[in-house]
Amino acid sequence: MNQSSSTPALHQAPDLPYNAILCRYSEIATKGRNRGHFERLLIESLHRQLPEMTPFRAGRERGRIVIRPKDRQTKTFNGRDIAVLHRDLERVFGISSASPVMRVSTELSEIEAAVDRFFPAVYEAATGRLPEGRIGYAMRARRSHRAYPLRSHELELHFAHRLLPVYPRLGVNLDDPDILLQLEVREEAAFLSFVNFPGPGGLPVGSAGRALVLLSGGIDSPVAAYQAMRRGCPLDYVTFHSAPYTPEAGLRKVAALARRLDLYQGSSRLFCVNLLPAQKAIRDLCNPRYRTVLYRRLMLRIACRLAARHKLLALVTGDNLGQVASQTMENLFVINQVADRPVFRPLLTWDKNQTVALARRIGTYELSQQEVPDSCTVFAPRRPATMAEPEKIKREEESLDLEGLIAGCLAESVRMEPATGESVPL
Ligand code: ATP
Ligand code: MG
Repeated sequence: MNQSSSTPALHQAPDLPYNAILCRYSEIATKGRNRGHFERLLIESLHRQLPEMTPFRAGRERGRIVIRPKDRQTKTFNGRDIAVLHRDLERVFGISSASPVMRVSTELSEIEAAVDRFFPAVYEAATGRLPEGRIGYAMRARRSHRAYPLRSHELELHFAHRLLPVYPRLGVNLDDPDILLQLEVREEAAFLSFVNFPGPGGLPVGSAGRALVLLSGGIDSPVAAYQAMRRGCPLDYVTFHSAPYTPEAGLRKVAALARRLDLYQGSSRLFCVNLLPAQKAIRDLCNPRYRTVLYRRLMLRIACRLAARHKLLALVTGDNLGQVASQTMENLFVINQVADRPVFRPLLTWDKNQTVALARRIGTYELSQQEVPDSCTVFAPRRPATMAEPEKIKREEESLDLEGLIAGCLAESVRMEPATGESVPL
């Protein structure tokens, strides 16, 4: 998680009787009339991604989502719930952060009582971590209840005057506090918390159209898939192999990647297309220098056919400008010409180390690292053209029966369920 090393305590929730969880979102707040729709998707996503928590109900409360135990007899979440929230929140796209909170009435005396009740445990935890010296304290108050008698800053002063004299080691440190007391006073209630768990941001899955990812076993395409999901796109996948020149293990690897990615969205379809019939024709009939570009144009055409058939609006690839021969701007230009729908390339401008860092975080890096030969390397030329000219490529393709090749590849393809590994013909 992206916690700063100097304030680890702010990411460890003290063990307190939290009766609610306050979820913050960022971009959804700007959605105007569609906001309700986005919020409902976010709530569905919370239920889908946090099944291990005590059953909860999630309500929309003007700009926030508040989670409370479903069973009204259960007053609070337990320590395990908070640990699950901390661990799995990263899968709930749309959430910017969430805090376990004490929800109390907005009466100042009630808020004071809550602070007095909970602060000793928080202070004691801090003294455990920091055996000597000052313990930095800050309060951040927010007041969305406009008519509330105290302003945010007045609330902050009020509680500083209340707490500092009682706890001798406490000193105000606004920049890098060891204890951060957060208070949000809303019209319906006040929320008190000591910790923020960072969420992944983005938009809830389902808020954008469904897309088809060209998923290879490499490092890039799974990260591109993640980025598309993070912007709200549910995904299906297509992978190209060259059986029997490429081994079964390649498909198992891609299925494992799809399963990993599906943790963020739920179920999907994985189309496994055998490109070999087309690769053989290209090998036999075309200039070897253009093989890579010709393969890619075929992949894209087939992906567009599948997308049309399954009502998927866009394609997603892991292309990265200049990384390899197929990704020069000239070649991307020629390859892209055959697509009949948008091709999203979330990693186009990323540096490799950014991609690797995210691949590690989302758990695809280790899967991608397994060495399995890729479809693109079958009959790969030693010196692929880095600047294929559209006219030349068109001429090369004139010697191919494109429709026949596309049909031939699709005829040898299957649809796999990533979850079970079961395949059915396309
Ligand atoms: P990756 O790490 O995702 O394989 P890469 O850097 O190796 O990418 P290329 O092999 O040139 O780059 O592939 C560019 C993109 O084309 C991939 O990110 C992927 O979206 C798509 N692609 C390449 N090979 C395949 C394949 N065998 N099946 C499906 N898609 C593929
Ligand atoms: Mg690759």
